[in-house]
Amino acid sequence: MNEQSGRLWVVATPIGNLDDLSKRAEAILCEVALIAAEDTRHSGALLTRIGSRVPTIALHEHNERDQVARLIEVLQQGGNVALISDAGTPLISDPGFRLVRAAREAGITVSPVPGPCAAIAALSVAGLPSDRFIFEGFLAAKASARRERLQQLAAESRTLIFHESSHRILDAVRDMAVVFGAQRQAVIARELTKVFETVLSGSLAELLERISADPNQQRGEFVILVAGASGEEADATLAEGRRVFALLCAEMAPARAARMAAAITGAPRKQLYQTTAD
Ligand code: SAM
Repeated sequence: MNEQSGRLWVVATPIGNLDDLSKRAEAILCEVALIAAEDTRHSGALLTRIGSRVPTIALHEHNERDQVARLIEVLQQGGNVALISDAGTPLISDPGFRLVRAAREAGITVSPVPGPCAAIAALSVAGLPSDRFIFEGFLAAKASARRERLQQLAAESRTLIFHESSHRILDAVRDMAVVFGAQRQAVIARELTKVFETVLSGSLAELLERISADPNQQRGEFVILVAGASGEEADATLAEGRRVFALLCAEMAPARAARMAAAITGAPRKQLYQTTAD
């Protein structure tokens, strides 16, 4: 560890309500030598509000590789740097991973300033099991890739968390109802901490009907949470996986057949492969 180095602060900022910025976040954003922001214009409003005059540089997915070297240099020369994204916690469906990795590799201290995170805020009010969950971020924009990913998650027993935008909310919920089954329980958390915050719960079929009927429910930012598959659902998926696996085994090597059957049905590949070993 280089004692002369500055510190990289990874600072969470509000996901809607600006009062959610913590006091510590505010102090750090006023004190550091440089702020790396996903969109400097967007973050400018927040920084002006708190009276920060710290210079900002843009760090987004298209320039992260180039900016990392520059930021590491600032840190190595003793400057403290804060990393923020447009909203919520950096690195969570947001840029910053490369910077954090490079800083840690260079022996620079990286400290979190925790705060808002849409996925966790949504989980905290969803009323779905929260002891175990998986975060899937955004699904693919292309329908075939989106459905394929959902299919792979069909037998997942942990609560599933997705980010979604207004452009695809209807398509995503419709595909989930088809792939996970219309009766699977889910929650749509929209515009959290903002004026039009709504948290809808019900089966995927009920939610689809509700948001299809009301264009207002298709506006804004969304977190979709889906209950994990029940034991029976997982058993049914495995049975279907085994059926497809058996058919494919007649045409190809078992390893390939297991991979394909898992992709088609969502059944766990290892369990399918074990079927041959049993
Ligand atoms: N890093 C952010 C975080 O920690 O929440 C997430 C950034 S990601 C690019 C943006 C997505 O987060 C949105 O498309 C939406 O899925 C979700 N999101 C952000 N703010 C939200 C809010 N106020 N209500 C619901 N979802 C939100």
